[in-house]
Amino acid sequence: MQKHNFSAGPCILPKEVMQKAAEAVVNLDGSGLSLIEISHRSAAFVEIMEKARALALELLGLEGKGYSALFLQGGASTQFLATAYNLLETKAGYVNTGTWSLKAIKEARLFGEVVEVASSQEQNFNFIPKGYDIPKELDFLHLTSNNTIFGTQMKEFPKTNCPLVCDMSSDIFSRQLDFSQFDLMYAGAQKNMGPAGTTLVVVKEDILGKVSRKVPSMLDYKTHIAKDSMFNTPPVFAVYVSMLTMQWLKDLGGIAAIEEINEKKANLIYSEIELNPVFSGFAAKEDRSNMNATFNITDDTLKETFDENCKEAGINGINGHRSVGGYRASMYNALSLESVGVLVDIMSELERKG
Ligand SMILES: *Cc1c(COP(=O)(O)O)cnc(C)c1O
Repeated sequence: MQKHNFSAGPCILPKEVMQKAAEAVVNLDGSGLSLIEISHRSAAFVEIMEKARALALELLGLEGKGYSALFLQGGASTQFLATAYNLLETKAGYVNTGTWSLKAIKEARLFGEVVEVASSQEQNFNFIPKGYDIPKELDFLHLTSNNTIFGTQMKEFPKTNCPLVCDMSSDIFSRQLDFSQFDLMYAGAQKNMGPAGTTLVVVKEDILGKVSRKVPSMLDYKTHIAKDSMFNTPPVFAVYVSMLTMQWLKDLGGIAAIEEINEKKANLIYSEIELNPVFSGFAAKEDRSNMNATFNITDDTLKETFDENCKEAGINGINGHRSVGGYRASMYNALSLESVGVLVDIMSELERKG
């Protein structure tokens, strides 16, 4: 049975990427050796790493602009502390838009003063704060571009005089932005790029080396830049699959092409949520995420039927996160418009038949 995978992460990847990755585990490009049994220093893997790093910069439009792309380990969660370790000398600003922002704030406090520049916590993070003042003399400002759990997404980004750091775990490569407005971006691969096990960090090199503390080698971006993201054994499988997914995206026409599809998917589900009285959206309309749509069922007696119909149709992974409840349909790059259509049909049928 065909599945429609709305999982929030790890999540859906393109079928052909999965197929190619499966083959490479047995026999990499006809070499007679598995991707996961060859040396990471072999020509074959060095080429994979170089291609992955180059594709990341190419897709983001950041080639030749002083940025370096790294594939690191420890998840986006390690970046919560690594960013502060490398960049926080005295004071940093954070926009608190959800669970992941809060975790980033907690880690940064280990390294210096943290100013919560704006927050939507009092409304359980159902909107993105706007029009806030940014204090002067921050070492950096940290944002979360897409709030995976609450289903909100920043549509505009503040102008700053300090470096701008952004957790893009759940919407990297999903929409066109001027990525050069950011000085450091990071994203756990498992939301929109690949399997769990690697985190993409794209950093503008000239912001580094300005803190007075010593940074341990593994957490120092300069170490990884100097060693072409091969300071220690990289997560070879996760890097390979991420590379394949980026290649898939490039062949499709890059971020511009996928953005168009992502907008269609989001419009389809949000117009159903708006028109159908059985459902209500969680996030403020202007801040709704094109990646994660969060919604509730207004009539609890229909919940069982809805869940059953979804299951019968092969829909996977739409339960909401425990801190929001209800439902969450994650519509990452590899999810087809058709899959969203299947879900929307079930939603509208529920209204018609009750
Ligand atoms: C999932 C997620 C994280 C955590 O990623 P890990 O790789 O599990 O550490 C951080 N930020 C955002 C926005 C996420 O969606």
